[in-house]
Amino acid sequence: MKKPPLIWLNVFVFASTFLVAITAVPWYGYTYGFETFEVVAMIIGIFVCGLSITGGYHRLWSHRTYKAHWSVRLIFALGGAFALQNSAIHWSSDHRRHHKHVDHDDKDPYSASHGFWFSHIGWMLREYNAMMYTDYTNVRDLQKDGIAVWQHKYYNLLAFAMNVGVPILVGLLYGDVWASILLLGVARLVLSHHFTFFINSWAHMWGTQPYTDRNTARDNALLAIFTHGEGYHNYHHIFETDYRNGIKWYQYDPTKWLINVLAWCNLASDLRTVPEARIEQAKLKMELKRRHDKVKHLPNSEEVILRLNQEYDVLCEKLNAFYKAKVVLFESKKKSLNAKLDKIQFEQQIRDTKLQLSQLKDAFHEQRKVWNNMQLNFSH
Ligand SMILES: [Zn+2]
Ligand SMILES: [Zn+2]
Repeated sequence: MKKPPLIWLNVFVFASTFLVAITAVPWYGYTYGFETFEVVAMIIGIFVCGLSITGGYHRLWSHRTYKAHWSVRLIFALGGAFALQNSAIHWSSDHRRHHKHVDHDDKDPYSASHGFWFSHIGWMLREYNAMMYTDYTNVRDLQKDGIAVWQHKYYNLLAFAMNVGVPILVGLLYGDVWASILLLGVARLVLSHHFTFFINSWAHMWGTQPYTDRNTARDNALLAIFTHGEGYHNYHHIFETDYRNGIKWYQYDPTKWLINVLAWCNLASDLRTVPEARIEQAKLKMELKRRHDKVKHLPNSEEVILRLNQEYDVLCEKLNAFYKAKVVLFESKKKSLNAKLDKIQFEQQIRDTKLQLSQLKDAFHEQRKVWNNMQLNFSH
């Protein structure tokens, strides 16, 4: 099949910046040396670009996982132009299509079904999605966001000002213009480009699938380091409305921390999360599926699967009872804070619920043990 024509501007930008980054940057560093300040400016630049894409383009505009003050949206709009990844409106339109048709050969603009190269960068080098370029019907909501509309309208100018103007200005202010152009201009752009592109390629190929195997998205802790927390892509594809990607406190997700800090400063609100019970349920469902696959070759597979299903149902029941009680406790605590009278009655109610909750938790953990031991028995 004939390939669509090349998009020469994209080919030129990606190829020339990459070549300069691997030749002129090390040569300049070896010949003249770089100041610490210049290296720090590049690292800050990588974070500004990366977090504008993950916190702004992705979690704010594409998925509406929280609301942000106009000043934050303005910084994300400028940072997004600095990252040179098209306007937030265009990016979000592509990304919503990616989620809706994930892995589809034609409808997912950067489908991993075409391999690493295509999903990483190849999809931007040819006119693969020409008919979608101006179709923004899936981002009508963003056309009500003045800052997103403004950024879309003046995108070329902003991208030029940020990518050429800022490095030259920083170089003029602090001494070495060429060093600033090479590090803050070119090396920063190439690194931040490929770190983001990894999410479409690497995060759809290498890693684990704890929540779903209905698409190619993977969780990958190593990738989270390069992508400002977006490495937990398996979770993200099943629960895209959650403002977090790494849901555990120890999972590296600086985008989530940034949104939390913004919320503490009253610059972000309405942070959306998925109820814990649903997350656990998804994980259990995957465990059940994997066990079915593991035992289906056994001579007594029917009987084993029946037992597995029974224990699984009990486990889900206990899980739901536990999380329901957690919600009741949360609600009672909230009510007791607002109640002026009846304080004593509420306190008694809270004590009772707490007791019930700890019993339900024990029951759930007991059943978890039974379930885990079952797996051990079957693996022999
Ligand atoms: Zn997404
Ligand atoms: Zn994806």
